[in-house]
Amino acid sequence: MGQYRTEAILLAVRDWDDTARMVTLFSRDFGKIFAVGYGARRPKSQLAGTVQPFVHAELSLLPGKGYESIKQCDIINSFRAIREDLSMLAYANFLAELVVELWPEREAEPAVFDLLLASFEIMKVRNPRITALASALQLLALAGFNPERGICVCCGEPLTYPAFFDAATGGTVCSKCARPGLTEFSEEVAAFFERLLQLDWQSPGGFSVTGAVLIETEKILAQFITYCLDKPLKSMSFIAAVT
Ligand SMILES: [Zn+2]
Repeated sequence: MGQYRTEAILLAVRDWDDTARMVTLFSRDFGKIFAVGYGARRPKSQLAGTVQPFVHAELSLLPGKGYESIKQCDIINSFRAIREDLSMLAYANFLAELVVELWPEREAEPAVFDLLLASFEIMKVRNPRITALASALQLLALAGFNPERGICVCCGEPLTYPAFFDAATGGTVCSKCARPGLTEFSEEVAAFFERLLQLDWQSPGGFSVTGAVLIETEKILAQFITYCLDKPLKSMSFIAAVT
């Protein structure tokens, strides 16, 4: 394949050497791709102002060994507002890292691309913390990770409340089966969970939730991500530090 064009979101951008930047991008047509922007650190390069984290662009890529070379980057949406706000930056980074970890290279997932793009759009106008929570739960579901929550994963009985979340088993457990130290999975958290999983990105509606339910849900999400990936995400500690 020669040089080709694809629509993509730049998920991670880091300096490669004195003149180049290494980019992990998620394209609509080909999924995750590693690419290098040669000259992107030179002020006069066309890539200098465009190869930045969270940019949505139309890219011209030249295939190479291990990684592609970015020949051109035409911005569709810069998402500059995200880079200029520490809180949005933290949540966007978290979603980007989650996508990078969940999908292998070159696996086309247009639904993931569309969800990520919608999340970045909504984040600018709505609460970025709740946006990231909804997006992360939906991304995990798209990757096939959906926590069991209608029944107790230990005894198999329909779930009654108060219930608990057991990340080690990937789902909810009833109060009779719960080990000590588990996070509570209250009826309010359960309802919020469903609301986030079913969030319609075209018309997201109201985000009203109590602080306690939000914190419990985040705690469960963090435990569930660590269970799914077998490790915590680096960006989760950054969120804790800046929010
Ligand atoms: Zn049980």
